Amino acid sequence: MGKPTGFMEYDRHETDLIQPSERIKNFDEFHRSLPVAERQKQAARCMSCGVPFCQAGVMISGMASGCPLHNLVPETNELVYQGNFKEAYRRLSKTHSFPEFTGRVCPALCEAACTCGHIAEAVTTKDNEKDIIEYAFEHGLVDEGEPKVRTGKKVAVIGSGPSGLACAQLLNRRGHSVTVFERSDRPGGLLRYGIPNMKLDKRVVDRRIDIMKKSGIEFKCNTNVGTDISAKELEDAFDRVILCCGASKPRDINAPGRDADGIMFAVPFLKEVSKKVMDLGYDYAKVKTSKDFSFGSLSGKRVVVIGGGDTGNDCVGTAIRLGAAGVTQIEMMPKAPEERTASNPWPEWPKVLKTDYGQEEAIYLFGKDPRIFSTTVTEFVKDDAGKLAAVKTVQLERKTGKDGRFSFEPVKGTEDELPADLVLIAAGFLGSEEYVTSAFDVKVNARGNVDTETEGYQTSKEKIFAAGDMHRGQSLVVWAIAEGRAAAAAVDVSLVGYTNI
Ligand SMILES: Cc1cc2nc3c(=O)[nH]c(=O)nc-3n(C[C@H](O)[C@H](O)[C@H](O)COP(=O)(O)OP(=O)(O)OC[C@H]3O[C@@H](n4cnc5c(N)ncnc54)[C@H](O)[C@@H]3O)c2cc1C
Ligand code: SF4
Repeated sequence: MGKPTGFMEYDRHETDLIQPSERIKNFDEFHRSLPVAERQKQAARCMSCGVPFCQAGVMISGMASGCPLHNLVPETNELVYQGNFKEAYRRLSKTHSFPEFTGRVCPALCEAACTCGHIAEAVTTKDNEKDIIEYAFEHGLVDEGEPKVRTGKKVAVIGSGPSGLACAQLLNRRGHSVTVFERSDRPGGLLRYGIPNMKLDKRVVDRRIDIMKKSGIEFKCNTNVGTDISAKELEDAFDRVILCCGASKPRDINAPGRDADGIMFAVPFLKEVSKKVMDLGYDYAKVKTSKDFSFGSLSGKRVVVIGGGDTGNDCVGTAIRLGAAGVTQIEMMPKAPEERTASNPWPEWPKVLKTDYGQEEAIYLFGKDPRIFSTTVTEFVKDDAGKLAAVKTVQLERKTGKDGRFSFEPVKGTEDELPADLVLIAAGFLGSEEYVTSAFDVKVNARGNVDTETEGYQTSKEKIFAAGDMHRGQSLVVWAIAEGRAAAAAVDVSLVGYTNI
């Protein structure tokens, strides 16, 4: 184990954050690494528990507890404590494809299930992970190299998000020839065009893609499968096709006035801004004053975000960086408790109030939490020119019916109106896009996700597999990587009869 008394001697020390007053001036990442000696102390807090829930990745009460990749958390923490970052990287690489992504954006399911966290504060496993992989990059340890032998089998991966990238990486290592098709101009999926630059710098994504290209993986961007190239062409040209297209169909808000000018979905908004950041060479002054956003300049504008989740929070942080004069976030669900309730014990995922970076920044800038809970939008108010002017809202009350099901009812007398120049809808996702699933003629389940054999990745068609959000439904980067890796193993078995992935 780390240091037998480490958890008693050292307090949890998270990676230092740049303060909101400074970080809102640009789109740079705002986490600062700890000095190596302090990182070792943090790893020393790991108790190497007999039953390390942190690496279990099991479902408890319908929620994942512990790391879905089954990272060997106590082992890597021990190696970090010893200062052996090289071996820690090797150990991390046994289960993980891209620790530089999860080390930045994972909600750290491992930490929520950490035994230290049961009685005090969890080990900083996520921050430790980031420092391990950054050490590995700095010291030239992350070099895939081309596989020595090629199998002659050809695989097409559709979609270059974390699931597609993980799948491509492992199948290429096995010697299969992999081509990744991506409809956007740059690879990375939501790592590139969803998660904002301040959470995951796009140069971190480029760094990984460059390594993957050098290892022999071909990337075909600006290629929309089902439009630019047919499913049939791919099925004829490749031995296997893996669908990793995400779950990008957004849930809409069907209130009167929805056609007003000034309402858009969250992901296209975030994509436009990330693209501008990259196109303008990370020159943030130019991004902020750019005149050619489809939503116009946000300087001095009032932004309303519908949806209180992580995507909504990313919209808040982005709107603030673009100079918005006010941001409100409307959430249908009631405010979560500050601490675990008795019905949500450790090591379950804690259903507690999280105030994320965008909300912290709004509190700093506007003096209050941007979130309004238990509230929904009843109407979008337009001016005479059809331009959005305000949103009408009403508070909701949660009621439980005789059948035990709950519903939300509007509370009379709580109607309100918020002035708004731009509304961003971040109300969740409804599964995969039909044009892809119908092009490949694969079965889709009631939730809009591609159906596969139970606990497997093969679709209703023998040569076609599915992974990531397109298979699991909108989820997390760590799950997408886990799915991509598992799908690669399944594809490998179907191609050569066994796998060592
Ligand atoms: C705004 C936002 C912020 C998020 N933040 C976090 C976070 O902080 N932490 C976290 O863990 N998770 C986060 N998530 C969730 C996470 O990003 C996703 O779960 C994950 O990216 C899913 O990976 P994927 O590979 O399945 O799909 P995606 O990342 O969605 O990638 C799918 C790719 O397929 C491409 N594609 C689709 N159809 C076609 C086609 N026909 N032809 C060619 N290409 C196609 C798309 O262009 C896209 O690039 C966030 C999600 C959003 C929307
Ligand atoms: S990938 Fe996420 S859950 Fe797994 S060890 Fe890393 S931070 Fe924890």
